[in-house]
Amino acid sequence: MVFHVLTLFPEMIEGCMQTSITGRAIEKGLLTLDVRNIRDYTLDKHGKVDDYTYGGGAGMLMQAQPVYDAWNSIPGKGIRTIYLTPQGRTFDQKMAADFASEEELIFLCGHYEGIDERVLEETVTDYVSIGDYVLTGGELPAMVMMDTISRLLPGVLHNDDSADTESFQNGLLEYPQYSRPEEWHGKKVPAILLSGDHKKVDEWRLEQSEKRTQERRPDLYEAYMEQKRLYEEQHPPKRRKK
Ligand code: SAM
Repeated sequence: MVFHVLTLFPEMIEGCMQTSITGRAIEKGLLTLDVRNIRDYTLDKHGKVDDYTYGGGAGMLMQAQPVYDAWNSIPGKGIRTIYLTPQGRTFDQKMAADFASEEELIFLCGHYEGIDERVLEETVTDYVSIGDYVLTGGELPAMVMMDTISRLLPGVLHNDDSADTESFQNGLLEYPQYSRPEEWHGKKVPAILLSGDHKKVDEWRLEQSEKRTQERRPDLYEAYMEQKRLYEEQHPPKRRKK
């Protein structure tokens, strides 16, 4: 997977992405990070990339020319271009899985009041938000997305199974987990997890996941139950032969 990032603050992206799991994925060649500084593409002799908005209003807007030339400098055509914006569809695990199936992605990070609409119309394929609040720039949202997508790429996590069992993967939150010691502050690890009976452990984990989702995310639980109901309707239990 190649992540191209267009930003005014490349050091933010490089510092974060070259750390920990994504850093190791870059070292192993599973991920390629191509960060381009939009300022390097401005034709303004003072290096300016922003200006006042027509019609008045507070703040500055990133201009079309440097953004377009930075985007156009990326080799290859038809690469999905994501503009991080509070006006986009809210990012979730399903969207991450969809993006993870691409070979390359372009992330366009806005700053100040955003970016001139005309260049967005010519370059952007996906408008994505990370939540209903306003940040100062698109760098943190781009990193949130790249981190989430990276974990879904084969070989990035030590154990590829771990992404499969995590929250949201099956429409539920993950079950509670425990590590050594067996007893801490008087609290014992649930006995079933020490039993070695994998079938029983799986049943217990599913039960816990359902309970936790119902308590903490009733919206997700409702959707999960609806899916379950539809599945059971389409796959009724087979009658036993007499
Ligand atoms: N004036 C814009 C508006 O009201 O929609 C907000 C601009 S914001 C101050 C500056 C930049 O931060 C945006 O261009 C965008 O790239 C990024 N940004 C801010 N909040 C975001 C969010 N919730 N999700 C994704 N990107 C965000």
